[in-house]
Amino acid sequence: MSEKLIVIGSGPAGLTAALYAARAELNPLLIEGYDAGGQLMLTTEVENYPGFPDAIMGPELMGNFRKQAERFGTRILTTQVTRVDFSSRPLSVWTGGDEYETQAVIVATGASALWLDVPGEEHLRGRGVSACATCDGFFFKGKSLIVVGGGDSAMEEALFLTKFAEHVTIVHRRAEFRASKIMATRVMDNPKIDVIWDTVVDEIVGPDVVTAAQLRNVKTDRVKEVPIDGIFVAIGHRPNTDLFQGRLKLDQKGYIVLRGDGSTHTSVEGVFAAGDVTDHVYRQAVTAAGSGCQAAIDAERWLAHH
Ligand code: NAP
Repeated sequence: MSEKLIVIGSGPAGLTAALYAARAELNPLLIEGYDAGGQLMLTTEVENYPGFPDAIMGPELMGNFRKQAERFGTRILTTQVTRVDFSSRPLSVWTGGDEYETQAVIVATGASALWLDVPGEEHLRGRGVSACATCDGFFFKGKSLIVVGGGDSAMEEALFLTKFAEHVTIVHRRAEFRASKIMATRVMDNPKIDVIWDTVVDEIVGPDVVTAAQLRNVKTDRVKEVPIDGIFVAIGHRPNTDLFQGRLKLDQKGYIVLRGDGSTHTSVEGVFAAGDVTDHVYRQAVTAAGSGCQAAIDAERWLAHH
């Protein structure tokens, strides 16, 4: 089987790339993966995606993205890419035993928030447990929140959440932040934020929504239950790039490195990347969709030249 363009990933970046590629008559094949739809599938209301003044549910928005990509002829495979070989042309992409040869690839496999992996966390996700203050902070007006983590993300989330919450407690597993000085200072100077050091979350409590967290001091082993309305986990993200180790240039944290000319070209000719898999700064649905559009245009131009 030989394809012109394969898109790997089905979040806002992948589906937008497929939409544009389909309308450019590149007849894209999109391999959506088993976590189809990406991180928005884990959120409830999306209020900051332009064009939806009354908000839209994350899964519904992604359903619309998918329909729109299909409307122009995108073929979608509900399976996982298991291996790629970009060392010779045509490029090869495998899903288990099936090999697909293709002239170009757009990688849009996204990133995944790291989670604590404690009891209650998965069951209460979207019901008080979140990994995105920009997405969900608004729902916690006047509430009491915990932010877990000690890096810049945790500082940023905590500061952002003070716009809505009455009080924010940062729970960090050590006695010193990893975050930059400037961010840490802003946090320490904010009267709405306090910090509990040397402490981890052992359990998130709540029947249907979060009501409390069980905290354990790692030095004394003392456990206490703190009543809260929400918990934001900000312990980092991980780009989904295991497949591309040794095949594309990745940075130290595993994000795909783009060529540096403002385009979406990766280190391999004919392979483009878009969305959170190359972006650890903005990480928004709208920026991912924008870069998916760029990748499709780059791929179209590249294919026209080759
Ligand atoms: P990070 O720097 O890796 O920090 C992750 C934090 O979470 C660390 O404090 C770590 O604790 C803690 N942590 C990790 N696993 C944990 C676990 N299982 N339980 C409890 N705590 C855990 O990640 P990040 O904050 O997302 O930042 C990623 C990169 O983006 C950094 O380079 C950062 O500077 C950058 N960034 C910059 C900005 C900004 O400048 N505005 C904003 C966001 C992110 P330890 O400290 O003990 O390891």
